[in-house]
Amino acid sequence: MKLVIASNNAHKVREIKKILGNFFEEIFTMKEVGLDIEIEETGETFEENSKIKAETVMKKCNIAALADDSGLCVKALNGAPGVYSARFAGEEHDDEKNIDKLLSELKGESNRQAEFVTVITLVYPDGKTIKAEGRTEGEITEARKGTGGFGYDPVFYSYELNKTFGEATEDEKNSVSHRGKALENLEKIIKNEKK
Ligand code: IMP
Repeated sequence: MKLVIASNNAHKVREIKKILGNFFEEIFTMKEVGLDIEIEETGETFEENSKIKAETVMKKCNIAALADDSGLCVKALNGAPGVYSARFAGEEHDDEKNIDKLLSELKGESNRQAEFVTVITLVYPDGKTIKAEGRTEGEITEARKGTGGFGYDPVFYSYELNKTFGEATEDEKNSVSHRGKALENLEKIIKNEKK
């Protein structure tokens, strides 16, 4: 069985190949199968968006396809920015502007609890679908700490690491991250099915 990953992000692809390499004969990126499309994330949940991406790619290639969708959910903001994490600051968004907006919305707020969430969807050509989820909890700091990672990492203080993701090494972050946990859960589900 072959698998195509609905992403060209080298870091994600490396992590996925490491975990799922045992279960699929060959794993491709979209680029490797000649698929150059922009998939619109029109869903209102991580689950919907990951399903839209996986199904679109599976239908185009007719082989199993995997997609993930992630974001930051802040309690005091009723789960925002959520599926809008990448575009939180509006049209001209980038990581710095998104963080500035987050810190300004949480100014004076004492409840700074937040979690990163990932939902992965794997769709087979016969339509069978597997969903796996991963979460990691922490809180939003008052100011940036550390320069590692990407996105909201410098302002996400991880309860599991006792430092921000921006201060953590890549291996430390991967060991507790929402994406890592979602992949581990997916691996468990696939393993159980093979029994
Ligand atoms: P994606 O679905 O993995 O592309 O994530 C969407 C957005 O959520 C990213 O552009 C980031 O703003 C945010 N995000 C997701 N995962 C992380 C993470 O591990 N660290 C920091 N920000 C993240």
